[in-house]
Amino acid sequence: MSRSVLITGGSRGIGLAIARRMAAAGDRVAVTHRTGEPPKGLLSVQCDITDADQVDVAFKQVEAEHGPVEVLIANAGITKDQLLMRMSEDDFTAVVDTNLTGAFRVVKRASRGMLRAKKGRVVFISSAVALRGEIGQANYAASKAGLIGLARSMARELGLRGITFNVVAPGLTETAMSESLTEEQREHLASQIPLGRLARPEEIAAAVAFLASENASYITGAVLPVDGGAGMGH
Ligand code: NDP
Repeated sequence: MSRSVLITGGSRGIGLAIARRMAAAGDRVAVTHRTGEPPKGLLSVQCDITDADQVDVAFKQVEAEHGPVEVLIANAGITKDQLLMRMSEDDFTAVVDTNLTGAFRVVKRASRGMLRAKKGRVVFISSAVALRGEIGQANYAASKAGLIGLARSMARELGLRGITFNVVAPGLTETAMSESLTEEQREHLASQIPLGRLARPEEIAAAVAFLASENASYITGAVLPVDGGAGMGH
């Protein structure tokens, strides 16, 4: 199995863990990086997913090196947490533009090649917060819930073309995104998780790799929580 895989926001955190896992399994993996250094040992293209032209250029680079993208992992995301009364419209739209519209931009671009090939796998990285909401995260939760509607609409629209669209909803995971938590907050959050701890990026990557694999050939439009049981009941 050596598929052309593209992971947005693959320079660190969950995206990098997915990239390393899929590369180790033999796929031709490309990642996008925006700021900072590209990761070593992987094809990395510079791309800000809020800019459709940059998305197009990045896809052209990946297509030239690895061929049309057969597996897309829409992972890039940001937070700009604030209580509703203090949340500016810019804070709201910036998060939606990256997390939701950014995913729309890359999936639209990827679907060209997938339609031609009559096959493809798309996995969106949402969040447990999409399903339960969170204080101070109205923008983030709305953007991540939007990914579910996007994935399920795509699943219906393009199912007959052999393309699957699924969502992984991670709980709190040990990455830069969760670094700002104090030890006290971390302990409090962990106490509410049945498995009693935060996720490791590799544990999210394992679920993504499954949904992108041949083993998940009859799964589309699914939302797979990888949250230590924190969101049970949704
Ligand atoms: P990180 O902050 O560690 O990494 C985010 C990645 O997204 C970086 O590579 C970043 O690039 C990239 N990115 C952000 N904005 C853009 C943009 N406009 N264009 C291109 N790339 C961009 O986050 P995580 O690894 O923790 O998160 C990955 C995904 O998982 C996100 O969608 C996040 O919402 C989701 N998630 C994370 C959880 C957690 O607790 N960590 C829990 C649930 C979901 P750059 O280095 O340039 O900033």
